[in-house]
Amino acid sequence: MDLYLATGNAHKTEEFSRLFKKAGLNINVFSAKEIGGMPYVEEITGTFTGNCRLKAEALRRIAPYKSWVLADDSGLCCDALQGGPGVDSAVYAGNNATDAENRAKLLNAMKKAPLHKRGARFECHLLILGPNNEEQKFLGQCWGSILEAEVGTEGFGYDSLFIPSGFDKTFGELQPQTKDKHSHRAKAFAHLVHWMKENDLGS
Ligand code: IMP
Repeated sequence: MDLYLATGNAHKTEEFSRLFKKAGLNINVFSAKEIGGMPYVEEITGTFTGNCRLKAEALRRIAPYKSWVLADDSGLCCDALQGGPGVDSAVYAGNNATDAENRAKLLNAMKKAPLHKRGARFECHLLILGPNNEEQKFLGQCWGSILEAEVGTEGFGYDSLFIPSGFDKTFGELQPQTKDKHSHRAKAFAHLVHWMKENDLGS
């Protein structure tokens, strides 16, 4: 089975190839680059699923007929910010914002939130499109809370501010292998693999 990833991020192609192999699935993962690059998509739907669909459909239009297309979208949703920054996680502090600037903006926005209002979750949405536009969606969530200051230097994005439930360390302190087991991405991916195995895809 050939699968094209609706992302311009080479790191994600490697990560997905590794995960599929580890899951025992025989899938050829290709980056959008191999078919001319990920078409430009303005992620304006306001929802993770909507943005996934825009990306998957844009790549579906140029992907080989018998292949499958997979898009992902993820972000951090904070209770005190009514689910924000959510779909805007990557650009929270502006279009070219760095991770550090986004974290600083988040800390400031949550400055007045008491402990019991610091709940948050990472969400990862995956959407796969088949040769005839058959669509399946998968969601992975990782619940936890937001600290009042950064701790740890591992990971990326909001990792150093987020303590997953059941742990007393942030994703910025935990080993990448631990994060890989409990993250929103790992959970969404596990749902995708389960569905693929049930449907004899990649066997
Ligand atoms: P993307 O959809 O995977 O590109 O993620 C969008 C944004 O969400 C990233 O730029 C990060 O700010 C945030 N994010 C998503 N997943 C994680 C994570 O595992 N740790 C920290 N931040 C994340």
